[in-house]
Amino acid sequence: MAVWDDLVGQERVQEQLAAAARDADALVTAESAGEQAPAASRMTHAWLFTGPPGSGRSTAARAFAAALQCTSPDRALGGAPGCGFCDGCHTSLVGTHSDVEVVRTDLLSIGVKETRDLVRRAQLSPAVGRWQVIVLEDADRLTEGAGNVLLKAVEEPAPRTVWLLCAPSLEDVLPTIRSRCRHLSLRTPSVEAVADTLIRRDGIEPDAARSAARATQGHIGRARRLATDEASRARRATVLKLPLRVEDIGGCLRAAQELIDAAAEDARQVSEEIDVRETEDLRAALGAAAGGRMPRGTAGAMKELEDKQKRRRTRTQRDSLDLALTDLTGFYRDVLALQLGSRVALANEDVREALDRVARGSSPEGTLRRMEAVLACREALDTNVAPLLAVEAMAMALRTG
Ligand SMILES: [Zn+2]
Repeated sequence: MAVWDDLVGQERVQEQLAAAARDADALVTAESAGEQAPAASRMTHAWLFTGPPGSGRSTAARAFAAALQCTSPDRALGGAPGCGFCDGCHTSLVGTHSDVEVVRTDLLSIGVKETRDLVRRAQLSPAVGRWQVIVLEDADRLTEGAGNVLLKAVEEPAPRTVWLLCAPSLEDVLPTIRSRCRHLSLRTPSVEAVADTLIRRDGIEPDAARSAARATQGHIGRARRLATDEASRARRATVLKLPLRVEDIGGCLRAAQELIDAAAEDARQVSEEIDVRETEDLRAALGAAAGGRMPRGTAGAMKELEDKQKRRRTRTQRDSLDLALTDLTGFYRDVLALQLGSRVALANEDVREALDRVARGSSPEGTLRRMEAVLACREALDTNVAPLLAVEAMAMALRTG
């Protein structure tokens, strides 16, 4: 079934979604024929997709959105909706279907104003499709006020409106919201499943695919980047050298600064292009002649855009730092496996020499303590501690000398 093709290793979730799409289809068909809707249905108006980063939460939500909009006549022959080829499926998957709204934010939180706009949209009937689908990719970023606005819409949805919320875990979503959603939990796909997808779908050479899948431990998006992007391989190499460089205080501070700089550079690369285009668009919209002075009264709008861009850079930088810390945790997990003589496959086999050195020079207890330090750093970053301070504290705790 084509719309599900990009979901990796999520058979159970896929079955549930396909069944719901089938029932949703029966509902629409019955209603348009003026018949009573079937009593028992696996379809519902609010769904919550949770799973670790890279497990494919938003991929699953988009696939479901596409299946709901599928217009393929094959369904009449008993096939389930979600062919992947018809106009409904295709436009939903590429993001141009007018009844599928995908909300992805670069900001750290989603506020009341944005949520009101969404709720207003959710009250409309579908324009061309069968359902009005709203995919909220970062439901964990709803502020409490925004959650209350959303709550009413989720409780009393328009008859053809479907909310698809995504978040890392149930705990990340306001209890009032999550209790009104049907919950689907995605799991981290196996290394084999990820490698297989990279080979089959992205045409990546088998050895490179397997090594990238192993290094990223089941994160399909990162695995693909690692296998195809030189800069991301270089960044990972820098991070994995860190455990050997924290011998003295000076080394710790330098390593911390480098980690922060790499994250900032990453954020700069990602943001720069978008920022320039956004700023130009806004200037044009506000009526500035090319190279001329901006009209009176537009400074506020320009300032608002600058603030938004600054928040986005902060978030991108934080995400990049978080990825680096994930790699670091993986490194120490491998060290621990070596120290305990465990036979599990190492994620970072490619830096085996460094793993061996750190394993020989420390105890399992020390390694556990270092893994805790990395975790503490991630938690500190979550609570808005200045990144450099958090990373310096971590580097000191990783010290070997
Ligand atoms: Zn279709």
